[in-house]
Amino acid sequence: MPKHILILMAMSAEASPLISRLSLTAVAQAPATSSSTFSLPYETYTGSFTNSMSITLLTSGKCATHGVDNVGTLHAGLMTMYALREVQGSDKYDLVLNAGTCGGFISKGCSIGSVCIPEHAAFHDRRITIPGTPFEAYGDGKTHCHTGESGNVTQISSIRESLNYLGGGVTTGDSLDHTAEDMLKMMANGSTVKDMEGAAIAKVCELAGIGYLGVKVVTDLVDGERPAFEEFLENLGTAAKSLEEAVPKILEFLDKEEKAQA
Ligand code: SAH
Repeated sequence: MPKHILILMAMSAEASPLISRLSLTAVAQAPATSSSTFSLPYETYTGSFTNSMSITLLTSGKCATHGVDNVGTLHAGLMTMYALREVQGSDKYDLVLNAGTCGGFISKGCSIGSVCIPEHAAFHDRRITIPGTPFEAYGDGKTHCHTGESGNVTQISSIRESLNYLGGGVTTGDSLDHTAEDMLKMMANGSTVKDMEGAAIAKVCELAGIGYLGVKVVTDLVDGERPAFEEFLENLGTAAKSLEEAVPKILEFLDKEEKAQA
């Protein structure tokens, strides 16, 4: 059961209330080894939760050119690999927890502020239909979320049921809005919520053989009336507060399970 948790978050505004709540401290960029030729923007914070869990939290940092947070799949994937290969030191991670905001479907029970713990992740903007080949399924890239190595899996559903959060799928694409084609893929892949990082992080976790647990708070409604960006900006602050509450509850749940099994 988890002892060293890696928390990955795209935006600093999403992360700062949680960083304060967990009393994490910023660490200088770890002396890079193989990545030394890159200037990586990721920001690292460390600390602990209770006495039995150590926490490392990374945010995607800012784009050097545009000054905004590095949202989206490119930095999500790079940050995940960077954290797993370069930051952990000798204290190996037991679980990746990806916390962030998302768009939610009213038709799947979402309202502003709902928390979703997805059971699976997939991409909704990778259309690679080449008849007679598995490229379409490759594009969808469906990954199952889990919290541990096989044989020692805390069911994602038991966490969300005990905390009364939504389940279903997170689907990921590199746009805040969506096209009609994205919508078809979101429906086909059982999307309860859509974001811009989840499936990318889950894929890297799969490659690394580590569990992926998503915690997604709804800032805007995908099948609602208003443009995503309007609702997003209006609700980002409240959503960050909600993440600040949800993440410690989940850590507590994991910690209790570990103690029960010890
Ligand atoms: N307008 C924002 C842009 C943030 S992009 C700004 O000015 O900073 C949106 C971020 O929130 C991404 O990290 C994404 O994962 C998440 N997100 C929230 N609502 C979303 C939606 N409807 N679709 C996709 N991603 C969403």
